[in-house]
Amino acid sequence: MIAIVGGGASGAITAAQIGLQATVPCRVILFDPADHLGQGLAYGTRNLAHLLNVPAGKISALPDQPGHFLDWLNRAGNVAALLREGPIAPGDFVPRAIYGCYLASLVEEVFSHPACVATLDVRPSRVLDFIPTDFGGTIVTGDGDTEDVSHVVLALGNLPPRDPLPGRHPFFRSPRYVPLVWQAGAMAADPDGDVLLVGTGLTAVDVILALEAAGHRGKYIATSRGGRWPQPHGPGAASGDYLADRPPPATIRELVRLVRKKIEDTGSGNWRGVIDALRPRTQTLWKSLPLRERQRFLRHVRPFWESHRHRVPPDAWRKLERLRADGRLELIPGRLRDFVEDPNGVTAILDPRRRPGPCKLRVQKVFNCIGPESNFRQHFNDPLLINLLARGVLHPDPLLLGLEATDDFEPIGAAGRIFSQISLIGPPLRGMLWETTAIPEIRAQGARIAAHALRHYLHPAWEI
Ligand SMILES: Cc1cc2nc3c(=O)[nH]c(=O)nc-3n(C[C@H](O)[C@H](O)[C@H](O)COP(=O)(O)OP(=O)(O)OC[C@H]3O[C@@H](n4cnc5c(N)ncnc54)[C@H](O)[C@@H]3O)c2cc1C
Repeated sequence: MIAIVGGGASGAITAAQIGLQATVPCRVILFDPADHLGQGLAYGTRNLAHLLNVPAGKISALPDQPGHFLDWLNRAGNVAALLREGPIAPGDFVPRAIYGCYLASLVEEVFSHPACVATLDVRPSRVLDFIPTDFGGTIVTGDGDTEDVSHVVLALGNLPPRDPLPGRHPFFRSPRYVPLVWQAGAMAADPDGDVLLVGTGLTAVDVILALEAAGHRGKYIATSRGGRWPQPHGPGAASGDYLADRPPPATIRELVRLVRKKIEDTGSGNWRGVIDALRPRTQTLWKSLPLRERQRFLRHVRPFWESHRHRVPPDAWRKLERLRADGRLELIPGRLRDFVEDPNGVTAILDPRRRPGPCKLRVQKVFNCIGPESNFRQHFNDPLLINLLARGVLHPDPLLLGLEATDDFEPIGAAGRIFSQISLIGPPLRGMLWETTAIPEIRAQGARIAAHALRHYLHPAWEI
């Protein structure tokens, strides 16, 4: 039996791959307390203003069928066909909620196909522990059940974000503070009240679009240290592979110079194409850089990389531009110092960048948009992670971006032991791969992990 813990995009894609690749009857159990398969954090939104940040033609769940999502979208009677009159084009950005439906439908289609020899059992339970044995391990669930499995895929997604100030500030217990913007009811706000968004990445854009869709009339003040919004998607195909005929850059400085030069050489300002051309090589490049260089990247280049690599759909960008022009969206780069709450609102105190400070921002609500935590040493309350870290099965990577793992996505424990009966997928592999959180990487990992899990199913762990 193969277990998958987590039924977000990573878990659903891996389940589908096991169904597609299995050649002998095998049973898959997928555990997730959430009631909808394939949604997770990203695709569970009901808000149709929340669009995929990858165009429809590039976000198939199956690496060997690039047009699979687009075909599904345009199939007569499908829910996406209701969104518009004409067919959906490869360059269109569709709502993320639709993608969650697509993943659920893919899993359903795979396991109900007469040629599929695997069976899938979806259990609405939280997994509290996994105890590895020589031949696999034992899953312990919150319902008190145990299951012996040959392999387990940990598709746990992102950690929740940390609070924007260190320590246990009393304001973080206030109803005016939204620690997790994806939680049900998180967008409830006085429609005329000004709000503060801490963080200026894709999460902040999502919050603005959700509040706008709900008829918000107040002002949005956004702050982050770097003060950069994600750039918009735009025209321009990926440039040719400009790293193909040369040794990989040995330092971040060399890489940045190369990218800058390439952008200048294109002459057309096609920086998007130059950045996108790096994508197939990012993981190899990252792995080839010494630790010191990866640290340099995080210190000096990361903010630029994040805002240029993780772009917003043009439609979302236009909405932000309109809000800016109307004076309803203001960005103040700086460092948060404190929150002072009173019965009528909250004052955020900020040291603004390149301005004499401090400045006081009066708002009704504060949304934490700083993005997921990646440091597994932080305190969090997930029993499965707490147990696996305490037992030394999982171990944070040296950059504290995720978990230590082999090239085959098996965790490397605290004592350097490889747990080959476990696979990690998606966000927790960030330290090892850097580029691992989006569907194009997850679908490739899912296909490889399915093959690995099926090998374990056929042979005891120690024979592999
Ligand atoms: C808001 C947002 C928007 C995004 N938009 C895009 C996009 O447009 N395009 C793109 O390519 N990528 C996007 N991403 C990147 C995203 O990380 C991936 O696309 C993908 O959704 C990650 O899925 P996941 O299954 O790894 O994690 P998650 O979606 O977080 O799912 C993890 C699941 O594991 C379950 N779980 C956790 N612990 C346990 C446990 N102990 N027992 C049982 N179940 C457990 C949770 O309930 C959850 O359902 C977005 C990410 C976010 C957060």
